[in-house]
Amino acid sequence: MRLKAYILAAALLACSLLSACGVREKYEHQQYVYLDVFDTISYVDVYLEDGEKSSEYEEEIHEELLRYHRMFDAYNSYEGVNNVYTVNSQAGKAPVKVDEELFDLVKFSLDNMEKTEYRTNIVLGSVTGIWKQFMNDAAEKQQESEIALPSKEELEQAAEHTDWTKVVLDEENQTIFLEDPEMILDVGAVAKGYTAQRLADYIRSLGIESASINMGGNIKFVGERKAGDGRSYWIGSIQDPQTMQASGMGIKLEDGGTIVTSGNYERYVMVDGVRYCHLIDPDTLQPAQQMASVSIIAEDSGLADYLSTALFTVDVETGKEILSHYDGVEAYWITADYETYSTDGFEKLLVK
Ligand code: ADP
Ligand code: MG
Repeated sequence: MRLKAYILAAALLACSLLSACGVREKYEHQQYVYLDVFDTISYVDVYLEDGEKSSEYEEEIHEELLRYHRMFDAYNSYEGVNNVYTVNSQAGKAPVKVDEELFDLVKFSLDNMEKTEYRTNIVLGSVTGIWKQFMNDAAEKQQESEIALPSKEELEQAAEHTDWTKVVLDEENQTIFLEDPEMILDVGAVAKGYTAQRLADYIRSLGIESASINMGGNIKFVGERKAGDGRSYWIGSIQDPQTMQASGMGIKLEDGGTIVTSGNYERYVMVDGVRYCHLIDPDTLQPAQQMASVSIIAEDSGLADYLSTALFTVDVETGKEILSHYDGVEAYWITADYETYSTDGFEKLLVK
């Protein structure tokens, strides 16, 4: 034991001497893992010039993530915060004053509805809630035959409370009011990407120059990559829905670049050979069946998340039509039968 400790001490000393001579890599890599936000695993990788503040950064980023987590939570209330839950509990009763970020996210989502053929509807909560309940119930059943699908009537009744024109935004007072008492706001389709986008700015404000954020498939890059291996750009990847492994395709991304994937392979239930995933087609009110995954590459991670959900519910052609309203956005589709499609600009981003 003693000898080992001695060798370790000698090695540490050698390291610090090297760093004093400037041989040591300039940037230190740290990975922060957060398990208690947005019902997923989030990774923030940072490359620090000065590692001393690392644990401070880790905590500050955690606090910021928790702040967004609470704000977008539809199930719990927190002291001192008017969140999605508060807005829902005041539906049909009163406007709720919310933080700038929640107001902005709701406004952004409503503003983009027309261009996206109303595919991502943040007040689809009464319907998505039924499917979430179905998934939770299914998880507890031993056999497939015990799983009951939601009835058409139940879904149609719920769909009567998804009229987005009944969301009243008051910009001056920063309030949100759901006019329909049974309407339910569910920002799940945009929340993670939106948070990743805002978190990137926050990370920069801390003085961190180089970082990558991965919140359950929402990936956002900050600054130049400083891994010290000579590659300054980032490489985004797309999972193979069949193997759940990286597909091997690398997408070259620079500072601010983002790649967001919506897929049917992580959360789903099989009944009678049909896959029921968590992405709902707002027309049929059923889980979308056409895609295995849709990845969006853009600058704004909130937009990428919003679009990934929208495009997941339509065919490739309609998806391309939707994208024609946006500049600088690329997409890669893997259909339910594992055929792949991409926008023209996507190919140019591939690392050969
Ligand atoms: P993930 O959260 O797995 O990354 P998404 O970003 O696509 O996937 O968001 C899925 C969530 O969005 C669902 O869990 C549900 O809450 C909500 N949702 C599902 N379908 C729609 C839809 N058509 N419009 C708006 N929200 C939806
Ligand atoms: Mg999404």
